[in-house]
Parts: sequence; C-alpha cells; structure tokens
Amino acid sequence: MADHKSRMLILGSGPAGLSAAIYAARANMEPIVIQGVEPGGQLMTTTEVENYPGFADIIQGPWLMEQMQKQAENCGAKLVWDNISGVDFSERPFKLMGDGGDVYHGDVVVIATGAQARWLGLESETLLRGKGLSACATCDGFFFKGKKIAVIGGGNTAVEEALYLTNHSDDVTLIHRRDSLRAEKVLQDRLFDHPNISVMWEKTVDKFVGDGDPLGLVAIDLKDTKTDAITQIDAEGAFVAIGHDPATSLFKGHLDLDDDNYIQVATGSTRTSVPGVFACGDVMDKIYRQAVTAAGTGCMAALDAERFLTGSADHAW
Ligand code: NDP
Repeated sequence: MADHKSRMLILGSGPAGLSAAIYAARANMEPIVIQGVEPGGQLMTTTEVENYPGFADIIQGPWLMEQMQKQAENCGAKLVWDNISGVDFSERPFKLMGDGGDVYHGDVVVIATGAQARWLGLESETLLRGKGLSACATCDGFFFKGKKIAVIGGGNTAVEEALYLTNHSDDVTLIHRRDSLRAEKVLQDRLFDHPNISVMWEKTVDKFVGDGDPLGLVAIDLKDTKTDAITQIDAEGAFVAIGHDPATSLFKGHLDLDDDNYIQVATGSTRTSVPGVFACGDVMDKIYRQAVTAAGTGCMAALDAERFLTGSADHAW
C-alpha cells in the first residue's frame, strides 16, 4: 500500500488518456496515468486501423496503442497498473483509491475510462467478430465495399451507421426487434427515403453464419419476434449497433452524468460538474466515438486542466 502524488492523475489509457498524458507531461505536470483492467482501451481489440491520421498504410490497433504509450512515457508520463475502485472528489487534492489499497492524490483528475460497445451475446457473434462482424461502421465500413451489409439496432447509432454504410454498399438492411425506431425523426426520414436501405421489422438475430477459409460472415439467421419463424438473409458484413456502456459506475453520485450515463461536460470543453475534474474520450462522447476524436478531447482535457491549475492559487503541491 502506497500513497502516490501528482499534479495530474489520468484515469484510463486509451487514445484520450494517453493524449492527455503527452500534453500534460510536456507541460511539466508530471502526470500519473492509471491503466485499468483493459490497458489501451478499445483499440487493443481492433485489428486494422486505416483512419488514424499520420499513417499511409494500414496499422494494427495494439501497435498504435503501444506507440502512444511509449510516446507518453518518453515525454515524462508515469504509467501504473491499478484498478480504481473508489474516488473522493469532495476536496482537493482529489483521491483515487486502488483495489490493493494504494491511494492516488491529484490536484486535478482527467477521466478517460472509455466505453464499451454492447454486443448481443451470441456464441456465433464471438466467433465472427472481426471476420465480418463489427460494432463500428465508421471504422470498418470501408472493408465491405460493394458487399451486402446488415445493421442491427433501432437507435440513432444504428440509423446513422446504415446511412453511412450506403457510401460503401448499395444493399444495406437494418434489422430491428420492434415495429418502430427509437432514432430521431429526421434520421428516420432519411433512412426510409434512402433507395439502398431496407428495414426488416420485428426480427432478432438468432445466429451469425460463417463459412470459408479464412472464416467470414456469409449469412444471418433471423427470428421473427411474433412467430419465432427463422429466416436467413445473405450478409458479408454486419454491424451491431445496440448501444454503448460508458465506464462511469465509479463516478455515480460524484459527477453529473446524462441519461445514458455519459459524463456531462460543459459545452466546448472537458470540464465536468466538479471543478478540477475533466473528462475526455468515449466516456463523455456518445456521438463521434473515434480514436482521433478521443485523442483530440484528451488534448483538450490536458489544456483545460493546465489552465485550471495555472489560474488557481491553492496548489497542494
Ligand atoms: P440506443 O440505446 O438509443 O439504441 C439502442 C438500440 O438497440 C435500440 O433501438 C434498441 O432496441 C436496440 N437494442 C438494444 N439491445 C438490443 C438487443 N439485445 N437486441 C436487439 N436490439 C437491441 O443507443 P444508440 O447507440 O443508438 O444511442 C445512444 C445515445 O447516443 C442516445 O441518446 C442517442 O440519441 C445518442 N446518439 C446521438 C447521435 C446524434 O445526435 N447524432 C448519434 C448516435 C447516438 P429498442 O428500441 O427496442 O429498445
């Protein structure tokens, strides 16, 4: 058990947390980055990354995160592994409590704990993830150029993904479990007016069907929610868009969260409801959710935090 002190604590080590660390370290704030149970965040489970600027060729997600980690360390950030299970934002310096009894004290805290895409929980889904199945159309849509694509879900994300995918395919099917969409009316209108999108109502996925060597998605078995009848549709790409879960359970009662449990920040900034606590990346962004936008808001958080510290006279250390 030990006490760790820093002017800036960063919680999370995806693109948001590590970008904040790079900027904070270069501003001599000697940040400590606390990496949780999934260091590197969602890019660690992504294979090919083609949309992160600066790389002419396709790169691997885990490699990109390794580079960001080394860059943060080379700039002077200290990376530690711990699972934070308690926070005290009632007074500065703030405290983060680790599972093993370590306590981290920080003048400011940057939260970059990210979000996880929800999956349907099917065995066939686990088997075909990254082999035709994805949870991010902006990331992976390009790989399905000219192919038959399905999107599962009925919210804003599902509808936006279906619309986006028409840039790559003229055969997109939206599959929804009810007979009406949850998405905003304006998005629904765009979807229904699109000649290359069809909607299958009251259907759930019974099984994703794979074939070939290497294995890839070829079809989807759908179950009718009223009759239980199974029908099969061809699909070489499928996007599960049934929502995300931001990693915010730790902050309930400590910070203002929105109705979907994302951390609320002041418009155009990373300031949370507690002065001195900042949030960046997918934990506060339910709209863009890209590595590059997470990195961008990570940079913003470091700059916001630095300005907060410079403008405040009561540094504890
Ligand atoms: P939502 O929770 O809004 O929608 C999830 C959709 O997935 C629902 O239609 C739901 O069905 C369906 N679903 C959930 N679980 C299952 C399941 N097990 N099987 C089948 N279908 C399932 O998530 P979104 O990601 O779409 O949006 C999250 C938040 O982000 C919302 O507040 C949204 O408005 C916001 N957002 C805003 C955007 C924008 O402003 N441009 C863009 C993207 C998101 P059912 O309807 O039956 O519950």
